[in-house]
Amino acid sequence: MTRVIVAGAAGRMGQRISYMVHTNPGLELAAAFEHPDSPALGRDVGENCGVGAIGVAISPGLESVIDQGDVIIDFTFHEATMEFAAIAAKHGRAMVIGTTGLTRKNLAELRRLAQGNFPCVQAPNMAVGVNVLFKLVEKTAAILGDAYDVEIVEAHHRMKKDAPSGTALKLGEMAAGALNRDLAQVGVYERNGIIGERTDNEIGIQTIRAGDIVGEHTVYFAGAGERIEITHRAHNRDNFARGATLAAGWVAGKPNGMYTMFDVLGLTDF
Ligand code: NAD
Repeated sequence: MTRVIVAGAAGRMGQRISYMVHTNPGLELAAAFEHPDSPALGRDVGENCGVGAIGVAISPGLESVIDQGDVIIDFTFHEATMEFAAIAAKHGRAMVIGTTGLTRKNLAELRRLAQGNFPCVQAPNMAVGVNVLFKLVEKTAAILGDAYDVEIVEAHHRMKKDAPSGTALKLGEMAAGALNRDLAQVGVYERNGIIGERTDNEIGIQTIRAGDIVGEHTVYFAGAGERIEITHRAHNRDNFARGATLAAGWVAGKPNGMYTMFDVLGLTDF
């Protein structure tokens, strides 16, 4: 049984992850912690995630609970994540990191810490379906080649602060890579006015922000007389939480170093 420590247990993702860990027969919800200023400190993590009291209180910080778990699942804030990684390295504990907004410098430091000290799965989108979508898009682009225009449309709720989504950018990168293009050169994020004809190599990424849409991504491959559309729709946040719990079960006991959801799902060579 893999013992899990949930970081940011009172957050939107932290609550769903606590629930998924508790209801997974291969995982034990061993500990949970929050920001030292959180009003959730001391609350039972089971009550907090809707499964009833389980006798595990939400603690103030990772240091106080690190000995109780094998894997830390972190969906918090990038600066906090780096603090947790340093503690995980010191104690040799595995990590699953879903927190977004990690800078290039953060990622380099994370790689350095993980290499010698702990196994770490890090992915900005842990949904199983989205990771399958990445691979489908890469394969489809490689098969169709330059004769088909690639366009990506993403839709999210009105509270989302960044655009386009990291997932849409990754989809663009997967398609561009398969077509020997560089998304930094060919990405088009806005069209307005007399813009002229579409160029052959451009990859459009367009954004919708509306209501409470959890997350939708469609990739178009449009050629002469036909098109393929590949769509992923997130119905709620459980798809991310489920991916995180799969990763937690997978990463415990792996050699030190960095892994992605492709490793967890066996999609690396697909
Ligand atoms: P949220 O604000 O609801 O939750 C974050 C929680 O982290 C809060 O409860 C906060 O108190 C806690 N926290 C912050 N600093 C802390 C610290 N130093 N110590 C302990 N706890 C701390 O946010 P959310 O919607 O749950 O998202 C969290 C992160 O997960 C974001 O970066 C988001 O983009 C990311 N995310 C990733 C995926 C994925 O699949 N990889 C999916 C959804 C969200």
